[in-house]
Amino acid sequence: MTEQATYGFDTLQVHAGSAPDPATGARQTPIYQTTAYVFRDSEHAAALFNLQEVGYIYSRLTNPTVMVLQARIAALEGGAGAVCCSSGHGAQIMALFPLMEPGCNVVSSDRLYGGTVTQFNRTINRFGWTARFVDTEDPGQVAAAIDDDTRAIFCESIANPGGYITDIEMLARIADDAGVPLIVDNTSATPYLCRPIEYGATLVVHSLTKYLTGNGTVTGGAIVDSGLFDWSASDKFPSLSQPEPAYHGLRFHDTFKELAFTFHGIAVGLRDLGMTMNPQGAHYSLLGIETLSLRMQKHVENAVEVASWLERDDRVNKVTYAGLPSSPSYSRMDKYCPRGAGALFTCSLKGGYDACVKFVDGLELFSHVANLGDARSLVIHSASTTHRQLTAEQQRAAGADPDVVRLSIGIEDADDLIADLDQALTKATT
Ligand SMILES: *Cc1c(COP(=O)(O)O)cnc(C)c1O
Repeated sequence: MTEQATYGFDTLQVHAGSAPDPATGARQTPIYQTTAYVFRDSEHAAALFNLQEVGYIYSRLTNPTVMVLQARIAALEGGAGAVCCSSGHGAQIMALFPLMEPGCNVVSSDRLYGGTVTQFNRTINRFGWTARFVDTEDPGQVAAAIDDDTRAIFCESIANPGGYITDIEMLARIADDAGVPLIVDNTSATPYLCRPIEYGATLVVHSLTKYLTGNGTVTGGAIVDSGLFDWSASDKFPSLSQPEPAYHGLRFHDTFKELAFTFHGIAVGLRDLGMTMNPQGAHYSLLGIETLSLRMQKHVENAVEVASWLERDDRVNKVTYAGLPSSPSYSRMDKYCPRGAGALFTCSLKGGYDACVKFVDGLELFSHVANLGDARSLVIHSASTTHRQLTAEQQRAAGADPDVVRLSIGIEDADDLIADLDQALTKATT
């Protein structure tokens, strides 16, 4: 991306990866609602199938609308390339797939989105992969969990739902020493607030479903590669460093260099796993990303105001928002997300589980949904919903105790949000 060096974030979020449509001059990126693309001739078709020429074959692999989104997200994260896919959970599988084989493990932070805990704890076992959960506050514990079969370290930049800021640089150093990539889920922060590659992350994964699209319309995911990891330095990553029989013995790392992971993600990952993003979804995500910085500024401003108000209220036990000086993560904000700690946090109520349920039912402006990162303010009681499948210890580790509600602060007027919270707290505690 040569664009990165010259343009600022706000310019890139509008322009990166796009150009007026060569066929019509259309200024907005068209929705290329097509499954297949006509080959110029048989030679052209053969070259495309051999990966000797880059082009469009079939929309399970590549689509021009999705390609613009991929280029835009790569530019915003400061990566060499990106692959989009059908969901954030799809992105996590797509990120691990080129790295893992049966018997391999990923060392993961235990502060995670509830669905990721379940995916890592159970579902990936069916592929012969395991996750080892560690407390990323303890570098010794992280290093001790790594063995010869470890293929990655995984964490979230701002961990959902507790709003905990991970020491990415420390984890990147441990990953580096072990010769494995660090994968950072940057969904809650977005590249506007945090750019994990600058602190040594190799791969960044996203749920586009959340802030990047920003309006609750799309389910999508992305994997960004820094392009900086040497896949051939050891024999740990044969999918990227060794000959690929399905492409006549082509070696992805040798051939595509810093784009090896991205090309593998498309040519093998999307081809065979089929977790493809659709062009309509990519269009909505592109529209959302055009205003990312503006929305995130307002999300953060509102979150600071609402969290501060809640913290002062005597019906509230505790607010875990990294943007408050009371948070243990507050001191990491300057380094990792100087523009703010996002807009997602939890709040524990003095009335416990029962008060949480009444509070959620009493809110009028906040929507009770299993989502976050919408323009609208959202609430959920994690322990009875998103984190229900977890054990009590896992709930605690994830910051989803029974007396805790998760708030995703939208871009409405902060005064209206506070008034709604106030009336619902009254209903919950009387
Ligand atoms: C929502 C979310 C996911 C999963 O994304 P989907 O698009 O719902 O599959 C993963 N990680 C985090 C941090 C999330 O918030």
